[in-house]
Amino acid sequence: MQMTFHGAAQQVTGSCFLVEAGSCRFLIDCGMVQGGREARDRNYLPFAFDPRHIDFVLLTHAHIDHCGLLPRLVAQGFAGPVYATGATADLLEVLLKDSAHIQEMEFERSEKRAGKGKAAGRGRHAPVRPPLYTLRDVDRCLARVRPADYGQEFMPHAGVRARFRDAGHILGSAIAEIWVTDAGGATRKIVASGDLGQPGRPILRDPEPIDEADVLLIESTYGDRLHKDMPSTLDELVAVVQGTLARGNVVIPAFAVGRTQEMLYHFLQLSAQERLGPLDIFVDSPMAVAATEITLRHFEMFDDEARQLFAQARQLQQKLRIHFVSDVQDSMRLNRVGAGAVIISASGMCDAGRVMHHLHNNLGRRECAVVIAGFQAQGTLGRRLVDGERHVRLLGDDIEVRASVHTLGGFSAHADQKALLGWAGAFKRAPARTFVVHGEAAASQALAAALRQQSGWQAAEVVVPREGESFAL
Ligand SMILES: [Zn+2]
Repeated sequence: MQMTFHGAAQQVTGSCFLVEAGSCRFLIDCGMVQGGREARDRNYLPFAFDPRHIDFVLLTHAHIDHCGLLPRLVAQGFAGPVYATGATADLLEVLLKDSAHIQEMEFERSEKRAGKGKAAGRGRHAPVRPPLYTLRDVDRCLARVRPADYGQEFMPHAGVRARFRDAGHILGSAIAEIWVTDAGGATRKIVASGDLGQPGRPILRDPEPIDEADVLLIESTYGDRLHKDMPSTLDELVAVVQGTLARGNVVIPAFAVGRTQEMLYHFLQLSAQERLGPLDIFVDSPMAVAATEITLRHFEMFDDEARQLFAQARQLQQKLRIHFVSDVQDSMRLNRVGAGAVIISASGMCDAGRVMHHLHNNLGRRECAVVIAGFQAQGTLGRRLVDGERHVRLLGDDIEVRASVHTLGGFSAHADQKALLGWAGAFKRAPARTFVVHGEAAASQALAAALRQQSGWQAAEVVVPREGESFAL
């Protein structure tokens, strides 16, 4: 058996792991690389394997850095099934359609700009690449999705059994357990953590402990950090909101899937606890609106606390006015709101989507605040804001950052080092081989070092693979 790391190796985005066992080849995730232009250009490179020879894909969850290249895989000849949980399948449709749509819009806009530049005798604008895939490719990809519930075993191929377990990261997110039997009849078990949630998070259940693996792939987004606790994070959020709304707006860039719904949950909770006065929240992202609907449809997946809170949501309507904005005109109207609005908008890393307009409007104003509530990959505008850059380029303009920028780490959808070690500690014995993936190099190395120190793990092999590296298992 051989495993090759085609993405999310010493970086966070672009998850794509190839397993080859006998005549069977499959992928765990097929995600998009995110970040600056150079990073994004990598999505256009040919796959390092022949998509026609991949038998199936196991998809851990519906974040674009895990599923964003699936339509391209299908367009280039992949004809097998994509297994995912039902909630992931629902979210996937919204997410991939949005991804194709954004790419098409950006391309059209850039073509127009290039045309205008030419007419005015100016040089060409930096061209935007054509879309990675079209809506038609997305439809063909969605037709390949086969839902599998948590805990339900399925056989994607002769000699391969698999099962999804709850990863507690976003709605539908899964850990994949995979049993591979070779020609000699020997079975080995691979566990891919996917992205693991922080235990005790709202709405979602905690990541399920797994007690056995021969080969483990574990994420390490925050492998070198501990999150602030939730109470102090919420205190900070309350202080920012109360200190800002009288004269300015609060902009919260948030992933449409996951973070947006959690922020709404926190606002509901703070409102129920009377820690916030009456408030107008605008959820400005068509995808976030759709994802919120899907989330509410999967009520059965919520933890008990969330069910109780949502049950009383109606009574809170007077105090917490949540406006879901799908329409472009309504979104534009928000540009004229100078104060009193909490605007939750995507993309979460501030590199696309409507949040760009809200940042354009509010970043230059001292009265406004930006709350960074999620991971910001290197090369994104969000990362530059976190790093305290005072001048940023946004929608073709240079903007001086006068708004206050608050990075609230406690909201993270990813387990911190302690939680990752806790989850890994549930294995009855250390997996013979562990690959630390899905983290920037320093974070992955730190988690690998910490794992090697765990009792019982001293003799185990813990590796931080490089991009493109293969291992015989
Ligand atoms: Zn994720």
